[in-house]
Amino acid sequence: MRISRIETFLVPPRWLFVRVETDRGIVGWGEPVVEGRSETVRTAVEQLSELLIGADPLRIEDHWQVMTKGSFYRGGAILASAVAGLDQALWDIAGKSLGVPVHQLLGGHVRDRIRMYGWVGGDEPAEVADSISAQLEVGLTAVKMNASGRMSPLGSVAEIDAVVERVAAAREVLGPHRDVAVDFHGRFTLANTRRVAPLLEPLHPFFLEEPTVPENSHLIGGLTSSTSIPIATGERLYNRQEFLPVLQAGIAVAQPDLSHAGGITEVRKIASLAEVYDVQLAPHCPLGPLALAACLQVGFATTNFLIQEQSIGIHYNQGAEVLDYVLDKTPLKFVDGHVERLTGPGLGIEIDEAAVRRADKSGHAWRSPVWRHDDGSYAEW
Ligand SMILES: [Mg+2]
Repeated sequence: MRISRIETFLVPPRWLFVRVETDRGIVGWGEPVVEGRSETVRTAVEQLSELLIGADPLRIEDHWQVMTKGSFYRGGAILASAVAGLDQALWDIAGKSLGVPVHQLLGGHVRDRIRMYGWVGGDEPAEVADSISAQLEVGLTAVKMNASGRMSPLGSVAEIDAVVERVAAAREVLGPHRDVAVDFHGRFTLANTRRVAPLLEPLHPFFLEEPTVPENSHLIGGLTSSTSIPIATGERLYNRQEFLPVLQAGIAVAQPDLSHAGGITEVRKIASLAEVYDVQLAPHCPLGPLALAACLQVGFATTNFLIQEQSIGIHYNQGAEVLDYVLDKTPLKFVDGHVERLTGPGLGIEIDEAAVRRADKSGHAWRSPVWRHDDGSYAEW
């Protein structure tokens, strides 16, 4: 079997899909994307395709090595995400060629269902409560929320109170048997995190995410030792080497993104490394159906897997939804807050190719917002 054609599709709301075709008629799909940089990743995928056309798609590890290291210069979000989407497609082809789901190729399933969580928004505590109620209605038992909007470097009493009130409102709706994770989104300075984390401890957040920007990972050890809240990070870390320092610093939850951190091949290795540090895997996934399916395939085969993020109904999904590009929506249906084991071949979902080709004609130009503080200076989003 040889790879004969590789195409990319820029589809709303903010995703990029890749379709890898073989001379045997087996087609694999993946999602190589950096939110806000889809066109740049598309170009990287096109360049990497030169390495794959004519090659045996089943030599996934070798392709990963060559794609990741073969241009001498390596690393970073763009390249690791381009590799990630192609890697997902190669695993999809491998599963389809053998008629088995990817998790079977990773050693078989270690669980029957995966717990899912959803996003809740809202600026006021009352809106948070309404938004959580909507997620409970679809059956979820865990949610995640941004703790704040724009945050001053040293938060005022009002800013800090607002964070605590929001999480308290969530806890009140959820009660003691359901979970709320809190995402600081890199918006908090170390000083803010130090001040706020102890105030959140009585509310028992499931985990506290990105308490500092990734380039300040060297500070994370001071936080993990100063709070009882499990610290999570990793959506902006792209390989094992970048995860190692935060694992050594005592995080509790590793959050590689299957579309950013080198795909199934590398995230499986990150999970193995995390296991050595007694750290649970909770892959980042505010993305589309292929990224989500790749997360789930890893989850079904990985012992130290905690929970899966998904973005059905997230506020970014303007113009298209996660399930719009999937023919049979039942594999991704929630049952008691879980997704049952995917049993279809490859990634376990069937892409609606006609819908994807149609969507690519309009494309998208999604960009991350740029925020500013009151004095006009740059603020973390
Ligand atoms: Mg996050």
